[in-house]
Amino acid sequence: MKTLKIAIQKSGRLNEKSVELLKNCGLSFENYKSSLISPVSNFPLEILFLRDDDIPEYVQDGIADLGIVGENVINETEVDVAYLQMLGFGKCSLKLAIPNQCSIKTLSDLNGKSIATSYPVILRKFLEKNFVQADIRTISGSVEISPGLGLSDAICDLVSTGGTLKSNGLTPFADVLHSEAVMIGRKGIENDPLIIELIQRVQSVLRAKE
Ligand code: ATP
Ligand code: ZN
Repeated sequence: MKTLKIAIQKSGRLNEKSVELLKNCGLSFENYKSSLISPVSNFPLEILFLRDDDIPEYVQDGIADLGIVGENVINETEVDVAYLQMLGFGKCSLKLAIPNQCSIKTLSDLNGKSIATSYPVILRKFLEKNFVQADIRTISGSVEISPGLGLSDAICDLVSTGGTLKSNGLTPFADVLHSEAVMIGRKGIENDPLIIELIQRVQSVLRAKE
């Protein structure tokens, strides 16, 4: 019998909930310690523990059959994968934020301004849609300190509670994208009986939580 592979985040905000979901589906496996791959003993499945950024491409390219990842990462990597099930955790928003008491009031005030982000693809599309011409500065982390350092006029970053923005003197200004964790699959895999079985288990776990 063939063995499916599911890619989940190895550590970070989605790791714990992803592991919990799979365990609640009755899957028995060792959690990530040092090995990248963990076999499931009671289902033809292997868990791959990866950085979240790599998950959409791994699934698109068929290195993994399935993955659990935030919609923000899927949109940023512009992959072609099947959305199998929204998972209801890892909720956050990609927001534009500006320094408190700054002169930017409307989206068009961003014309000619610079915006720091780790999501240049999503931001570029959003700005184009809104006819704003701004300079996108791509940085990989700590985006929220960039206005204070004089590196940008505004930021576009993931927000859940807003605490990080606040403590950096920033005010949310516009919503670019809402996101939550989603189970994705390689295109065409939706009708595989093992996938159907797994998704049914996921759905009953989610239903039991309601
Ligand atoms: P990795 O080491 O796997 O690349 P990371 O640092 O990119 O991890 P995390 O900070 O662990 O990512 O976030 C993983 C995902 O959790 C995000 O892509 C997003 O979908 C979701 N998320 C939920 N709330 C937040 C938040 N407040 N900030 C950032 N991400 C959040
Ligand atoms: Zn990441």
